[in-house]
Amino acid sequence: MGALLEVSGLKVNFGHVEAVKGIDFSLTEGQITTLVGANGAGKSTTLLALSGLVRKAAGQVVFGGQNITRLPSHRIVHLGLSQVAEGRAMLTKLTVRENLELGAYHRRDTDAITSDFDHVLELFPRLRERLDGYAGNLSGGEQQMLAIGRAVMARPRILLLDEPSMGLAPLIVQEIFRIIKMLNDEGLTIFLVEQNVRQALKIAHQAYVIETGEIVLQGTGEELLDHPRVLEAYLGI
Ligand code: ATP
Repeated sequence: MGALLEVSGLKVNFGHVEAVKGIDFSLTEGQITTLVGANGAGKSTTLLALSGLVRKAAGQVVFGGQNITRLPSHRIVHLGLSQVAEGRAMLTKLTVRENLELGAYHRRDTDAITSDFDHVLELFPRLRERLDGYAGNLSGGEQQMLAIGRAVMARPRILLLDEPSMGLAPLIVQEIFRIIKMLNDEGLTIFLVEQNVRQALKIAHQAYVIETGEIVLQGTGEELLDHPRVLEAYLGI
């Protein structure tokens, strides 16, 4: 299987701050690829650049053979890049059901939408119990589940996840990673940005480590879990 998404020479600047300094990486169809690094390393900026939400100073993004470098973000979403934002931005004054329906707003395949809705509720039984409650009343973990569920409702070709484990209790983190793995087992290509280096490397096929805007290591998740630099800098061993 070839690269579904290929990024080369990506640079992003904020004023005189070089947040991302010319990075290369690719996502293979059907795999989980992770970008791990510390707070402020440039992970979120990289994701926002892929989605067209921040300006790229240089570089190229090719998705499914199409150059999407200069496309506006709504076009990129329609091509099938679906981002789950950090902080789980969602419509707190809408119900869980309405949030999930919104995920599919651009789709017209009604039957498939209904089956995806049922499938999301199978993946996240907690959401089924709270379908008609306001999203704003969910716990942090449930909100993360809803954010993922909503992105899945778009039937993306690639799911982009920005620190899904952030701020969640360890048991909930396990649950979120289990579901990410399950979505991938069903064939979904996933790009996972994480500070939780151990958990991310455990489920990732391919992994990149970013430090101050540069990729400093790459390999399979398994290789990087054993890498001395990862062990020392990120796993405290
Ligand atoms: P986090 O875990 O905090 O999300 P990160 O690895 O995603 O960290 P980024 O948020 O991508 O890091 O930030 C990379 C660098 O760019 C940091 O130095 C940050 O301060 C800077 N930065 C990010 N967003 C902006 C912005 N809107 N304006 C100015 N500087 C920014």
